[in-house]
Amino acid sequence: MQKGEIIPKRMSLIEFSEKYATEEICSDDLWERRVQMNFVCPKCGQNEGYRIKTRNVWECKNCKKHTSILLGTAFENSKLDLRKWYWAAFLIISSKAGISAKELQGHIGVTYKTAWYINRRLREAMQLANAKYKLCGTVTVDEAYFTGRENNDSEPLKRGRGTDKSKVIVAVSLTDDGKPLYAKMQVVDNFKAKTIEQFAEKHIEKKSKLITDGFKSYKSQKITKDYFVDYDVLPADSADSKLKWLHTIISNAKAFVLGTFHGLKSDDLQLYLDEFCYRFNRRYIPHLMFDKLLNSALSTPPIGYYSEN
Ligand SMILES: [Zn+2]
Repeated sequence: MQKGEIIPKRMSLIEFSEKYATEEICSDDLWERRVQMNFVCPKCGQNEGYRIKTRNVWECKNCKKHTSILLGTAFENSKLDLRKWYWAAFLIISSKAGISAKELQGHIGVTYKTAWYINRRLREAMQLANAKYKLCGTVTVDEAYFTGRENNDSEPLKRGRGTDKSKVIVAVSLTDDGKPLYAKMQVVDNFKAKTIEQFAEKHIEKKSKLITDGFKSYKSQKITKDYFVDYDVLPADSADSKLKWLHTIISNAKAFVLGTFHGLKSDDLQLYLDEFCYRFNRRYIPHLMFDKLLNSALSTPPIGYYSEN
């Protein structure tokens, strides 16, 4: 994002409701997306076929097998109208602070359970999209503690190394002039060297320059071999200024998690952090986010896929 550049606008609610006005339009749109993504027959592996429009079914030209165009997507096994999936995806990316299942329930007229399911599936799509990219260049890294609260009145518990709240490693890449680019966050069991190494391996390109607060886990042999590490040379004040954006982004992520999702369960925290990073990393392309989220959902395997395979 260059200075002075204007961020394009996403569609308004009115534009969206006109563009995707009927179930048929959404069904045609989904079909187009599937064709572009190279729909392949699960039986014979060929990619030529026809659409049987009345049933959202694809017929293989080669073996004649009929396959739902929702097969292998986040929407598989769902009886929900496509229009509601579309609306949910649009409302989620349009809302700055995220959207709770309760809100979604009211907006698209489904049960709470269904709204919760939609939210979860779309967050999984975001998680999958996040996993496709690694940070590179100059990357700041730090540890953070996230805590839920039992109810709206109680204060979040204390944070800092050594508490038993959810531990999260956060990394933010920076531009040459020190502005934040992209963020990654992962819930971990501990902040030991091995864990930091695994995080770096998964989320940061090798040979990147890491800026840390000098915590000993960043000094492992593997980390110093794979990355250029800038750490304990920094006095506390300087480390603070170099990690300024990272700490701001951690605060924003905490506000996001606590603000929208009261009574957070730690199991769900990773998905919320993925949603936060997904939005953050695409903050300059709001006009593309709906398409991107929908396409990610079409590449997201159905629930149960991972445990059965
Ligand atoms: Zn076939």
